[in-house]
Amino acid sequence: MQIKRLRLTGFKSFVDPADLRIEPGLTGIVGPNGCGKSNLLEALRWAMGENSAKSMRGAGMEDVIFAGTATRPARDFAEVSILAEQVGEDDELEVVRRIERGAGSAYRINGRDVRAKDVALVFADSATGAHSPALVSQGRIGAIISAKPGERRAMLEEAAGIAGLHVRRRDAEQK
Ligand code: ATP
Ligand code: MG
Repeated sequence: MQIKRLRLTGFKSFVDPADLRIEPGLTGIVGPNGCGKSNLLEALRWAMGENSAKSMRGAGMEDVIFAGTATRPARDFAEVSILAEQVGEDDELEVVRRIERGAGSAYRINGRDVRAKDVALVFADSATGAHSPALVSQGRIGAIISAKPGERRAMLEEAAGIAGLHVRRRDAEQK
């Protein structure tokens, strides 16, 4: 799966609609401290279904909604859209998650209301999803470097999307 664009509205520091185009290959995000680099990665995870407020660095899920600054009032909703396509296919897939104060989260795929589970299924087996080790957050790099070789191998296999194959092989060998 190739993610082509991330669009944020009212998500954390991204109060105004912001589009991030993601080209094939490696994408780097650079900028001064506090400019929102980690918020972008969190937006990607969140739209894929992340439900841990702690991993969004908040106390509750509504903390992802723009909380206001000295010059801008707070928002009452946040929305993140992921535009993706399967490699080798022309069909685009737009996954949207939206949260409103007091109303919780809702998901859409290509404009249709869906369940959180449907979104999880879309990203399953694409070596991606909210908990994909392919998304390396701040602090995880140290953990990868200091891991024992066996642990590091497990992390890399998971990131490459082949961890499931071993489970299936062991399963097959036992039968
Ligand atoms: P560093 O280089 O230090 O890792 P960074 O570029 O990763 O910084 P982020 O952590 O993504 O920066 O962004 C932090 C900024 O986001 C802070 O200024 C914080 O106030 C702002 N922020 C986080 N949540 C919200 C929110 N709900 N509403 C408004 N601003 C928010
Ligand atoms: Mg950061």
